[in-house]
Amino acid sequence: MHHMNKSAKQRTLSIVKPDGVEKGVIGEVIRRFEKEGIRVVAMKMLHLGKKQAEGFYAVHRERPFFSSLTDFMSSGPIVVMVLEGDDVIARNRKIMGATDPAKADKGTIRADFAGSIEQNIVHGSDAPETAATEIHYFFSDLNIVS
Ligand code: GDP
Repeated sequence: MHHMNKSAKQRTLSIVKPDGVEKGVIGEVIRRFEKEGIRVVAMKMLHLGKKQAEGFYAVHRERPFFSSLTDFMSSGPIVVMVLEGDDVIARNRKIMGATDPAKADKGTIRADFAGSIEQNIVHGSDAPETAATEIHYFFSDLNIVS
C-alpha cells in the first residue's frame, strides 16, 4: 500500500561559521537544534584554508562577495555538523533565519547573533542535492552515526 511520507527523515549540513565560534555560541546553536528534536549525527571543528573555502562555496564563484566570503570562512575555526530529522533541511533554515540578519525573523539564530549579511553565524544546506554534496565535502559515510 502506498504511504504518504510528507515528513521523511533527512540530513543536512550545518556550519557554525568563524564569527559564531569567536562569539562563543557553538553550544547555543546546538541547543536550538536539539530543543527542536533535531539530532547531531556527525561533528568536528576545523580551520578551512582559502582554497577549501572556495571549494565549499564554488556555486557562488561568480558573485561579487565570493572573495570576501571565502576570506571570512577561512579566517578562523568552524564547527561542521550533520543534522538529522524529519524535514530537517527546511527546519534548520527556519531556525537559522534569513541570510541578512536585518531581515531575519525574531528569535532566529541570525536575528539574535549575526553582525552582517556575510558574518551571519551559521550555514545550512538549502536542498536535498546540496545537502548531500556539502555533507560529503566534510564527512565520509563511515563518520556519520546511524
Ligand atoms: P544562505 O543560504 O542564507 O547562507 O545564503 P546564500 O547561499 O545566498 O549565501 C551564502 C553566504 O554568502 C551567506 O550565508 C553569507 O555569508 C554570504 N552572503 C550572501 N549574500 C551576501 C551579500 O550580499 N554580501 C556579502 N558580503 N556576503 C553575502
